[in-house]
Amino acid sequence: MVQHGLQSLLRYDREMAENIKRIIWKYAEKLKDRKIKIMNFCGTHEWTTVHFGLRSLMPPNVELVAGPGCPVCVTPSYFIEQAIKLSFEGIRVYTFGDAFKLPALKRVNGARSLEEAKALDGDVKIVYGFLDAITDAKKHGKPSVFLGIGFETTVPSYSLPFYKKVVPKNIGFISVLRLTPPAAEYAIEVAIERGLTPIQGIIAPGHVSTIIGARPWDVISKKYGIPAVVSGFEPVDVLLSIARILKMIIEGRVGVEIEYKRLVNWNGNKFALKTIDEVFHVDDAAWRGLGFIPNSGLEFNDGFKVYDAFEMYGIKRLSKEEWRYDLPAACRCADITLGLAVPTDCKLFKKACTPERPIGPCMVSLEGTCAVWARFGGGGLADEIARDIGLG
Ligand code: SF4
Repeated sequence: MVQHGLQSLLRYDREMAENIKRIIWKYAEKLKDRKIKIMNFCGTHEWTTVHFGLRSLMPPNVELVAGPGCPVCVTPSYFIEQAIKLSFEGIRVYTFGDAFKLPALKRVNGARSLEEAKALDGDVKIVYGFLDAITDAKKHGKPSVFLGIGFETTVPSYSLPFYKKVVPKNIGFISVLRLTPPAAEYAIEVAIERGLTPIQGIIAPGHVSTIIGARPWDVISKKYGIPAVVSGFEPVDVLLSIARILKMIIEGRVGVEIEYKRLVNWNGNKFALKTIDEVFHVDDAAWRGLGFIPNSGLEFNDGFKVYDAFEMYGIKRLSKEEWRYDLPAACRCADITLGLAVPTDCKLFKKACTPERPIGPCMVSLEGTCAVWARFGGGGLADEIARDIGLG
């Protein structure tokens, strides 16, 4: 797979990739006395980076680190535990396939994931989207809940059916909706607080920004003096975004640039944002392994609380005071999602913890850094291949 990906890049875009690599090295040379740490916020950018061996193309003073941009990885264990519990109480739980295997910290009735709950006769159904769950819930008419995991990219797929009033009353919604700019701020601040190499550039998620626009990333440059580039997901997009960040650093410019102009504008998708505002409001929210991040989640507005699964089934809300560290012992996901460690720093990586039998949440989704490294050879194989074919 890795080889195939790299060969595709070279076959179709070799000249462009080599040109951009040359530009990156030229810029890095001008910054040679500095270590430049750039965070690719999004799990899909990490996928591109690993799959195409982009780290091997970087000059020695440019470090690419992964960020918290994987919704499955940051879903607190508490929400999974509640969903498992409901599935054993005669309530149908709808989930996406990647959250199906997501391990909770504690077992509930013998199950540590929705997959295990289903094997033990819990009522769990995998769906491709919220509309599928709505169709199914209308047919069977029994109590059900949807495990609503996602970032701004997927929020409109939830807010629109509520806005259009097509959601039946027998389906509740567990909101694990999270917002990305506050998490980027959190990652920047943690590195500063711990006295580590600061993050000096953010590759901001293109798909999220198709909804929210590029403007919300302003906070990164205004508050922290760090450039951000909203990037597409092809390898050339990521390389171009890195080059643009380095250029901005050299020129002493901070601001936000859009590399992904073919889909992203400054103000986002007005109608999608209108449906989100109508249905949800921003609140502080828990991120797995990290705790509560201010203004980083979405909760139902009063007019839609009738769909809130926690209200519907009398489930206690997770509070800041009661939140407890929720990663398994030895799992380094918290550090990995903040760009402070890489999967190979975890002693369980590809030993006890594998994509087939994940222990921690970063090994589950294809956007999880551990899953990406385990499947596509991050930190080793992809880089070796890039060197073998003359690009590294
Ligand atoms: Fe957590 Fe597994 Fe990754 Fe280790 S390898 S950090 S246990 S997900």
